[in-house]
Amino acid sequence: MAKPITIIEFMQMFPDDDACLDFLFKERFGADHECSRCGETGKWKKLAKMPAYTCQCGNHVHPMVGTPFHKSHTPLQKWFYAMYLFTTTRHGVPAKELQRQLSVNYKTAWRMGHEIRKYLGLVDGDGPLSGHVEADEAYVGGRRKRTRGRKGVVLDNKTIVVGMVERDGRLLTKVVPDTSRNSLEVTVTENVAPGSRISTDEHLGYSDLDKCGFQHETVQHKRDEYVRGDVHTNTIESFWSMLKRSIRGTHIHVSRQHMPKYLAEFEFRWNLRRQPEAMFPLLLKRLGS
Ligand SMILES: [Zn+2]
Repeated sequence: MAKPITIIEFMQMFPDDDACLDFLFKERFGADHECSRCGETGKWKKLAKMPAYTCQCGNHVHPMVGTPFHKSHTPLQKWFYAMYLFTTTRHGVPAKELQRQLSVNYKTAWRMGHEIRKYLGLVDGDGPLSGHVEADEAYVGGRRKRTRGRKGVVLDNKTIVVGMVERDGRLLTKVVPDTSRNSLEVTVTENVAPGSRISTDEHLGYSDLDKCGFQHETVQHKRDEYVRGDVHTNTIESFWSMLKRSIRGTHIHVSRQHMPKYLAEFEFRWNLRRQPEAMFPLLLKRLGS
């Protein structure tokens, strides 16, 4: 397995803002970018006083326009370093940590984290899952206070998430409003290819999945049955425990509103866990599209 980029290698690749801008320019437009005015290729020079390149004819290209860096007062190298941190940590990067390492204020650190999470969400592929898929729901984030509502125990401030994972493959998560049969069936049907095998626990919300065109099998957790042949939900359960541990350890509170971005971050890390060396290059590549 190739090794992830070290901090020394990062500093050699991106010693200053200009090196980052140059990378961004090449990634977005290509080294042989053709000038829209004169048609020349590869005649671009960095302008001294602007984060832009000029052609010999005087036409300008601004590599940061259309990226989160454009309207930001934070130097480009700090953005690159923040992205580097996101791809080298195992448990996520709290805003406090970014604030300390980049010496920016908390609000800036928080916003940078969220922009980077948006990119992470775009990197690790999409399209429905297939093959043998485990599905399960979890209550994530929020405080662990319980209040008793009319419909029984309500987990205060928790976000309900459905996770689906291919055996030895990709993982997807979706925030759902509740654990009703309708919510769970719609989520699974929208994200798993028809005909796939699905393993779940005995939750009633999944009980009609076979009528939705899946080969559905369950394990009875309430009867201490966790594995029957190759039917189990151990993969998704281990994702939940990693996710919950990380959120508890690094983020004090994640609201329902922001949960999808955090989920995207942890999905990204899970989906690329066998090729950690590819995380940073993939994220940089994403900046070009
Ligand atoms: Zn030109």
